[in-house]
Amino acid sequence: MTTIDTFGTRMTIGGEAHEGAGGFPVTNPATGETLALAPEASEAQIDLAFRAAADAFPAWAADEAARRTALREAAAALSAAAERIAPVLTSEQGKPLRLAHGEVLGAGMWLDYYAGLDLPRTTLQDDDRAYAEAVLRPLGVVTAITPWNFPVYIGVAKLAMALRAGNTVVLKPSPYTPLSTLLAGEILAGVLPAGVLNVVTGRDHLGPLVTGHPLVRKITFTGSTATGRAIAQAAAPRFTPLTLEMGGNDAAVVLADADIEWTAERLFAAAFDNNGQACVAPKRVYADRRVHGALVDALAERARAAKVGDGFDPASELGPLNNAAQRDRVADLVAEALASGGTAVTGGRAVPGGGFFYEPTIVTGVSDGVRLVDEEQFGPALPVMSFDGVDEAVARANNSAYGLGASVWGTDTDRAAEVARRLEAGNTWVNTHVALAPHQPFAGWKSSGVGIEGGHWGLESFSAVQLAYRAKL
Ligand code: NAD
Repeated sequence: MTTIDTFGTRMTIGGEAHEGAGGFPVTNPATGETLALAPEASEAQIDLAFRAAADAFPAWAADEAARRTALREAAAALSAAAERIAPVLTSEQGKPLRLAHGEVLGAGMWLDYYAGLDLPRTTLQDDDRAYAEAVLRPLGVVTAITPWNFPVYIGVAKLAMALRAGNTVVLKPSPYTPLSTLLAGEILAGVLPAGVLNVVTGRDHLGPLVTGHPLVRKITFTGSTATGRAIAQAAAPRFTPLTLEMGGNDAAVVLADADIEWTAERLFAAAFDNNGQACVAPKRVYADRRVHGALVDALAERARAAKVGDGFDPASELGPLNNAAQRDRVADLVAEALASGGTAVTGGRAVPGGGFFYEPTIVTGVSDGVRLVDEEQFGPALPVMSFDGVDEAVARANNSAYGLGASVWGTDTDRAAEVARRLEAGNTWVNTHVALAPHQPFAGWKSSGVGIEGGHWGLESFSAVQLAYRAKL
């Protein structure tokens, strides 16, 4: 079931609805069929969006109280529209409807959190010679670029930080999932002054146009490391400030004293949430050899029991992969792992039929050096390896170009925390993985990220620090 007639497919630019200069097809991943035509922005429309954002900037930047009120209204409007946005998200992304609904509500929390957060001011000096403060000033027009796995959550989180800091935004969603962002953008723009938020859609060739426009003062991007690298190069000539949230290959280290059933329950949920299509998710497991077999059995049991199906079926726990290329990539990585001596304890096959479904897969008998272990699979296939000694586990977990998240599992939580401290990742957890919240810093180390989102760190990322120094007369 899809609901293509219940949402608009128009871009919001300068507070007005715009048809595209052309259209491009958006696929329903549960059927493989075309769901709708999304607008392809022309170069002139992109220019219009940046000019609208630049025109709206001075008034938006000047009135902090109005910004807080508008963000609260935006949060309420988004939450009130969750029932409308969720089916659109499920239709184009594939995730089960209740998760789509949760994604929209989670996005609203970012708007609420930033509406309530004070802009920090630091008094540096207050004496008979001078009064000096460090204050945050907005940057101007922000380009926000988002991926297809959590389009609403990631897009709105970026808006919350950028707008609260006093910037205006041009938002470009992934061509795989533009429709939920168009709808959310229309709803949010309805409560924001014209031009504060503009949404443009189109295929990847739009990327350089929205990163290279002369009015851009900041780029915030979430997506693959390869695209992040291209954006860093596009930003270099003008030294445009960047926040890049990129790929990950999170390790989960399971210690010998872990409660295996308890751990497997949570590890499976974290690794297979959104069908493994999450930047932070356990993507390779290192288990102490003494518990490896029991953990594999417990994970495989959960993988076999997980119901895979259309996101509109209330029984579905896992939907399809978002697109055929991603499904094929997961299938290739698993096939290569099996050809190199690995075993699919369960799964290991695409589900035949029209959609991009793949069976939840647990792989053993592989090690570092196999692409399923070394690369980001971004899908429902999890390699579970064994280690002898914590030093080996730490070395193997850290032997990656990525550094987004990592977790350690064990009943002696002090010991587990001590192991977690040694892991090279921006986000570390003990006995959980993917515990995210707007007030926490979220940053990738190494090739996983540049800059920080979340909390006051996120606000600072969307601001310039200004010294405000007044000599006393
Ligand atoms: P992608 O890099 O292919 O695309 C992301 C966005 O970049 C899309 O909107 C795309 O149109 C745009 N784009 C493509 N080429 C561009 C260019 N030259 N200039 C500017 N923009 C361009 O990523 P994806 O396949 O949509 O998403 C999956 C990836 O995103 C995974 O690697 C995943 O780990 C990563 N991701 C990271 C985080 C994080 O917070 N670290 C969160 C979610 C997803």
